[in-house]
Amino acid sequence: QNVPMSEAGGILARTGYSGLVVVDDDDNVVGVITRREIDKALNHDLGHAPVRGYMIRNPETVSEDTSLGEIQNVIIDRRSGFLPVIFDNKPKGVVTRKDVLGALHRTAHRPGEMTGNSALKESEEFGKDLLTKLPPTQFGILALAGEVADSMGVTCYLVGGIVRDLVLGHGNVDIDLLIEGDGIGFAHNLAETLEGEIIENPRFRTAKIILSDGEHIDVATAREEFYIRPGALPEVEAAGIRDDLVRRDFTINTLAIQLNSRNWGRLIDHFGGVADIKVGLIRVMHTFSFVDDPTRILRALRFAARFGFELETQTAELLRRALSEGRLDDVSPERVREEILASLNEDEPWKILSHICETGIFGILHHGIQPPLCLANVDDPVSEALEWMKGIAPGHEMPGKDLSYFAFIMSLSDPVEVKVFAIKYHFDNTIMEIAEALSHLPIARESLRLEKQTPSELAMKLDPLPTPLLTVLAAETASGSKERETLGEYIGKLKQVRPEIDGTDFIKEGYEPGPSFRKALETVRRAKLDGKISTREEEIAVARAILDSHSPE
Ligand code: ATP
Repeated sequence: QNVPMSEAGGILARTGYSGLVVVDDDDNVVGVITRREIDKALNHDLGHAPVRGYMIRNPETVSEDTSLGEIQNVIIDRRSGFLPVIFDNKPKGVVTRKDVLGALHRTAHRPGEMTGNSALKESEEFGKDLLTKLPPTQFGILALAGEVADSMGVTCYLVGGIVRDLVLGHGNVDIDLLIEGDGIGFAHNLAETLEGEIIENPRFRTAKIILSDGEHIDVATAREEFYIRPGALPEVEAAGIRDDLVRRDFTINTLAIQLNSRNWGRLIDHFGGVADIKVGLIRVMHTFSFVDDPTRILRALRFAARFGFELETQTAELLRRALSEGRLDDVSPERVREEILASLNEDEPWKILSHICETGIFGILHHGIQPPLCLANVDDPVSEALEWMKGIAPGHEMPGKDLSYFAFIMSLSDPVEVKVFAIKYHFDNTIMEIAEALSHLPIARESLRLEKQTPSELAMKLDPLPTPLLTVLAAETASGSKERETLGEYIGKLKQVRPEIDGTDFIKEGYEPGPSFRKALETVRRAKLDGKISTREEEIAVARAILDSHSPE
């Protein structure tokens, strides 16, 4: 296990083996390493790294007595295509996917002896049950998709998040279809059947069908070069879909259900996705997953928080290592931004933000952003604040949930650093506005505590804050406290006070537009806030005084 990856690569090159069994000093099997991990290590200049860092830990193993049928199930149902044969935890040999395919091929003419059929039936029943949990509209669309696929002689699968969520018993309306065959042609036929619009992307052989109710269906094409020739054993998956699924981020996202009538409901679970969903684990597909695509670090935390799952032990270790190696620096600012926004748009952003804070990711993305690590131990103050705001100003502009959480986290850091962070990751103007306004927070906080101030004085201190920063103030103040009451007075009443008149009234009065217009309207608003004026005529009188004092003569 201490051998460098490059040396392991040398052994593979010399012997032509597809993988190696890794042992500890006492010859106990501790992992396997395959050509895949080694190639990746070399690509990422990690040839010097010891094998133990990137080997597959606790690999599936078999014994010398394991039957071909059992091995086939292990290879089909689990993640591994390279199985050490062990006795007393010492290596005795290996069985590879190729060995199994060869053996199956030899027994292909004796189907009565084939194993795995019962497992297939079970997976079909399970998959069919899952499909019946869908709302009738989705179910109907999938049945039609299966018919269209049948009529074209292509294979059609429901894939990704929707299958995961069906196993979890969660709702999800995003239909993702994967086609082995002409995906674009299929999308056209399905769009025609459903009377939807189609947007195609021929370069990636994907298409989006937009339905009349605004819902959409994504269609992708599986890679063709790996298709298994017709007449191959039904137990052996066409590699088209396997090749697609193996590229996904986590095992829980690798499930697929076939929709063709011949195999309606057949669940494809090559990588132990159902088992991981049942025990609640986020598990990467291979040890270089986070190195290949470090956005998966943020995705892993997001899924873990969303479902209340744990990171599987080795996945957690790989994630920590990827972070400490600075892998997030390799991701484009846009992808980091999109992942942060996706986290903020989750149902419960607080849980995800706590995970992100715990792992120190904000500080890694930008050293100046260092919210305290203890967020995880604190109840979500933002959701209570948002609820309270909805109640206090019904019907008025409410801050977006995502922006409110962002503002809260950012309010814990230095405003200057937040601005640098927002620029670095190309956040849009709404977020830039929040970053800009953070420096007003101390004065605003102070104003909530002041005993003596006029309504207009309070409003002037709170007016510069975009609404997400008002949520921050609400989140910082205890429900029922004096500060909360003052904030409620501003949000529910003062913030809505506006002059009845505007610049067009001044033009009608014969004034030339200029900076004095704004000054006049501000003065009118102040007078109105403090109850000094109430009618339109009084507003015009106050404005006139200002405009005249600024007029050229
Ligand atoms: P949800 O939409 O509920 O957040 P999802 O699983 O549908 O979950 P998407 O982000 O829409 O998530 O991705 C669709 C599929 O594409 C996922 O199931 C995942 O397997 C795959 N995927 C997305 N991003 C990556 C990535 N960075 N690396 C590998 N696979 C990915």
